Amino acid sequence: MILTTFGDMMRVPGSQESLLQVRAAGADVRFVYSPLDALPIARDNPDKQVVFFAVGFETTAPSTAVTLERARVEGVANFSVFSNHVTTEPPLRAIVNGGETEIDAFIGPGHVASVVGTHAFDFLAEEFNRPVVVTGFEPLDVLQAVAMLLEQFTSGEVAAGRATVQNQYARVVRPDGNIVAQKLMDRVFRTRDTFEWRGLGWIDHSGLGIAPEYAAWDAEATFTVPGVRVADPPACECGSVLTGRIKPWQCRVFGTACTPTTPIGTCMVSPEGACAAYYNFGRLDRDTANAVTIRD
Ligand code: SF4
Repeated sequence: MILTTFGDMMRVPGSQESLLQVRAAGADVRFVYSPLDALPIARDNPDKQVVFFAVGFETTAPSTAVTLERARVEGVANFSVFSNHVTTEPPLRAIVNGGETEIDAFIGPGHVASVVGTHAFDFLAEEFNRPVVVTGFEPLDVLQAVAMLLEQFTSGEVAAGRATVQNQYARVVRPDGNIVAQKLMDRVFRTRDTFEWRGLGWIDHSGLGIAPEYAAWDAEATFTVPGVRVADPPACECGSVLTGRIKPWQCRVFGTACTPTTPIGTCMVSPEGACAAYYNFGRLDRDTANAVTIRD
């Protein structure tokens, strides 16, 4: 078997080892930039099963859906996908509903929003009075988004219960998102009853499995997947980081035992992870950062 996945996944701590360590021990694990890159690997290795280990939100799910559709059309029989895709709304609801969250406002991720649209975040403003600004990825985008969020507070709109969703990334994101991508995902995926998140636990209707029509390319239908549960390392406080209860540097092992090259928790693996971002770019004076909160 050849296992393919995104580069980020190679260093994620597993139940015993990371995929990088498994590869060093001799397993054929390859990282790809796109799930489509796994199809030529399957064609070039007809005597082997090629599995794509799919992860990510609605940002990466459409490319997995395209790959599954192409595998179906081209009849690539030795290829399958182990889908661990997730959707944005259920974990956001879980975080805001958790009761212990310290999150006052959200910067909406522009790449997710380009697929799901700004309307997908309306519930945060309408049901929870949390302002959202969907934002691009340039430094000026983020600064403008922070200014727009602060404006909702200083203008008194949030205090009056009138938080809104704003679109700073209008050059890319439309209110309804990418309808073509949404339809393709609807065809290829089915929402799972529940899905376990590291740091957040089980969240209902938050994962995407593969639709029965694509079962021939579903690794869970092809192989016996043991359903191993991997507990978060006891030292890891990703759950508290993700819900805004602590800053990454308040984790006892931040920057010592846990670094981007030796990640203990998932928040330190991807450069987009909160702990990795604070590790790589957290040059802000911490006392100042602690003192500056929206409530002040
Ligand atoms: S610093 Fe590492 S161990 Fe601590 S919360 Fe972040 S990822 Fe988890």
